[in-house]
Amino acid sequence: MIQDLHSHTYYSFCGGDAPETVVEAAIAGGIDVLGITDNNYGVGYGRCDVFLSQYAAGFASTYERMLRKYYDHINLVREKYAGKIEVKRGIELCTLNDVIHPLPDGADISFYDFCLIENLDWKESVTGGDLFAYAKRCDTPVVGVAHTDLFAHIASRGEDPYDYFSRMAENNIFWEMNVSYDPTHHYRVHGYMVDFFADEEKQDIVRRSGVLVSVGFDGHRAADYLPDRVREYNEKLIAANIRRPFE
Ligand SMILES: [Zn+2]
Repeated sequence: MIQDLHSHTYYSFCGGDAPETVVEAAIAGGIDVLGITDNNYGVGYGRCDVFLSQYAAGFASTYERMLRKYYDHINLVREKYAGKIEVKRGIELCTLNDVIHPLPDGADISFYDFCLIENLDWKESVTGGDLFAYAKRCDTPVVGVAHTDLFAHIASRGEDPYDYFSRMAENNIFWEMNVSYDPTHHYRVHGYMVDFFADEEKQDIVRRSGVLVSVGFDGHRAADYLPDRVREYNEKLIAANIRRPFE
């Protein structure tokens, strides 16, 4: 079973395609489970000019409605392609501490299948680096950590990696291995991902802790999608006996 739990559609300002196009590219590539995870601010503000407006904060009342509309669309797509692929209704949460990026206080996302949290390890993050508190605020059944070197983050907090990952497992929080490789990301490869797959000691800590690990391509254009790369990294996790979400 091949998973990709990180993908973007035209609901993200940097995304290019309709959800249907993204899902069809995944089906053609042999993906079994696809998580659609558009950026919360793209979903919530809908239009880039609204987002960029200094008055964006005044649009908070439409934000929650947009969170529902996006979910409803992804849900229809999920139903349309049922039997061919399992679509998970997700959202990626920017946690930069400014007016327009993070989820507005009180905005409900608990009805999504899962969310991805990014910028956890930035000093400007609204999470304050506290993954467990922010995951509770998200309140989705499953939470993922995206774009983050968790071993470095854990070390910076003076915590023990095995204990931290075990706590993640207990709280249904998984760690995403971002395998993006496309022009949108200037063919940049995440160092923490390369490091993890090269380091058997780290893999052993993760495996023993029981924390789940996902693979995400972080795709923004269906034309640039590399499903074989997604398959390759899923197979690395399977070979390392590391469990994945939604198995
Ligand atoms: Zn993303």
